[in-house]
Amino acid sequence: MIKVAVTGAKGRMGNLIASLVLQDKDFKLVGVTERETTGVIGKEFSVGVKFYSSIKEMPEKPDVVIDFTLPEATLKLLEEAKELKTALVIGTTGFSEEEKRKIEETAQEIPIVFSPNMSLGVNLLFKLVAEVTKALKDKGYDIEIFEIHHRFKKDAPSGTAMRLAEIIAENLGKDLSEIAVYGRKGIVGERKPNEVGVLAARMGDVVGDHTVFFATLGERLELTHRATSRETFARGAIVAAKWVANKKAGLYTMFDVLGI
Ligand code: NAP
Repeated sequence: MIKVAVTGAKGRMGNLIASLVLQDKDFKLVGVTERETTGVIGKEFSVGVKFYSSIKEMPEKPDVVIDFTLPEATLKLLEEAKELKTALVIGTTGFSEEEKRKIEETAQEIPIVFSPNMSLGVNLLFKLVAEVTKALKDKGYDIEIFEIHHRFKKDAPSGTAMRLAEIIAENLGKDLSEIAVYGRKGIVGERKPNEVGVLAARMGDVVGDHTVFFATLGERLELTHRATSRETFARGAIVAAKWVANKKAGLYTMFDVLGI
């Protein structure tokens, strides 16, 4: 039985994931966390499972912690997980480059699966975008990313859109910071050949849409993924937690977990 803790269990993703962990016979939920100020610390999440302000306070040490919260909460968790020697599944998005380096450093000591999108479909999109970018490199195609999310999302562009941008830059052999354009306004001039546009819309209850356009004079190829339920991410996180529980230290992605 794998001992699991879930952070941010009053959040949309944390709540769904903790509920799935409770139903899974391979798992034992040893505790959930929430921000100290929420007033739920010490109360029950479900029968025999309490809210804590840190994984260090849980009665049993978790083998794996699943984290879908905010970067500041994840950074605190990195320190705690390193101390306890606990594996991590990180789905949180919105990290700065420096914060991502902290995750890489911590992964030298504990196993971490880190992915801005845990769905199988999106990970296939990552693969396809890499292939298409390679095939169309230096052939005069403009590449643009467009994402839509629900009105409650706090970071923009989405972590998935940023990962798509990184994959495109890697396959063009460019530095993303030199070619990315985040939205456009005013007299911005003609599009530069190697620009990669990243555009974000926020509306209603959209779970997560991502389209990558490859356009030239006379044609346009569009690769689109639409998530219709958050359950796809939650189920991906569950698969990742089972996979990472007995791995050695290192930074892993959903490609490793899904074997694609
Ligand atoms: P959410 O509903 O705002 O949930 C975040 C939860 O974390 C909230 O309950 C928040 O509490 C809590 N939290 C904040 N600081 C904390 C701390 N120090 N300790 C413990 N809990 C803390 O957001 P969401 O929609 O679930 O999304 C969460 C993250 O997952 C976002 O970064 C989102 O982009 C990402 N995400 C990733 C995937 C993926 O597949 N990788 C899929 C969906 C979402 P407060 O409300 O008090 O701040």
